[in-house]
Amino acid sequence: MGSGYGAAMAALGLLESRQTTSRPAVWVFEAGREYLPDDFPKTMSEMPGYVGFNKVNTAALWDVRVGTGAVTISARGLGGTSLVNANVAARADAEVLSSWPANAQIDWHSRLSLVYNKIEKLLGVRTNPDITGIGSYNAMAASAAALNANAEAAPLSINFDGPTLHSANHRPCNQCGNCVIGCHSGAKGSLNMNAWPLAKQLGASFWAGSFP
Ligand SMILES: Cc1cc2nc3c(=O)[nH]c(=O)nc-3n(C[C@H](O)[C@H](O)[C@H](O)COP(=O)(O)OP(=O)(O)OC[C@H]3O[C@@H](n4cnc5c(N)ncnc54)[C@H](O)[C@@H]3O)c2cc1C
Repeated sequence: MGSGYGAAMAALGLLESRQTTSRPAVWVFEAGREYLPDDFPKTMSEMPGYVGFNKVNTAALWDVRVGTGAVTISARGLGGTSLVNANVAARADAEVLSSWPANAQIDWHSRLSLVYNKIEKLLGVRTNPDITGIGSYNAMAASAAALNANAEAAPLSINFDGPTLHSANHRPCNQCGNCVIGCHSGAKGSLNMNAWPLAKQLGASFWAGSFP
C-alpha cells in the first residue's frame, strides 16, 4: 500500500523471496497518479495546481496537511515523496546506530552496511562529479572554511552520467536545480526510475491514482 521508499523496499523484498519460494503475488496500490518527467510543474506559478491542503485538491502531487501545532508535507504519486525530495541519500552516522534501537545484541552498523550497499546501487547514489562548478557549493565551502570546518558534497541519488540499469528514460542531470519541484530531465533517482521498474520486471502489478 503506497509507493514510497518503505513500500518499495518491502515489495522488492517480497519479490526477491518469490524467486525461491511460492509467495503470493505483489500488488502495489498508490493513491497518487504516475508522473513522467514532463508532468511536473515548470515554473513556480504552476505550483498551486499541484498542491493539496487537507481535504482540498486531494489528488494533487503535494500533500500538505495542516494540523494543530504541526504541518506535514509529502508527495502523492507513484514513487511517493521521492518524486519531490532532494534525493540526498546519506547513511546514518555511527553514533545514531550505536544508540538505536537499544539492543546490544545486534550490530546495526554491520548489518545495515550490507543493506546500504545494495540500496545505494539500486538508487544510483554518488556525489556530483562537477561539484566545484556549483556556485552555492563554493559559497558553502568558503563559509565552512571561514569557520575552520569542511564542506562535503552530499551523496545524491541522481544520474550524472548516462543510461542506468533500470530505466531507459533516466537521462543525465542538467544541473537545473529543480529536483524538489519534480525532475524534468529524468535524471533524479526517484523510485519510479529504479525500484518500481525493477519490481515490475520481477512481476509486481500496479494500481496508481485510484484513491482520490
Ligand atoms: C521537500 C522534501 C525534501 C526531502 N528531501 C530529502 C532528502 O534529500 N533526503 C532524505 O533522506 N529525505 C528527504 N525527505 C524526506 C523523505 O523524502 C521521506 O522521509 C520519504 O520519502 C518517506 O518515505 P515513505 O515510504 O515513508 O513515505 P512516502 O514517500 O511519503 O510515500 C507514501 C505514499 O503512500 C501513498 N498513500 C498514502 N496513503 C495511501 C492509501 N491509503 N492508499 C494508497 N496509497 C497511499 C502516498 O500517496 C505516497 O505516495 C524530503 C521530504 C520533503 C517533503
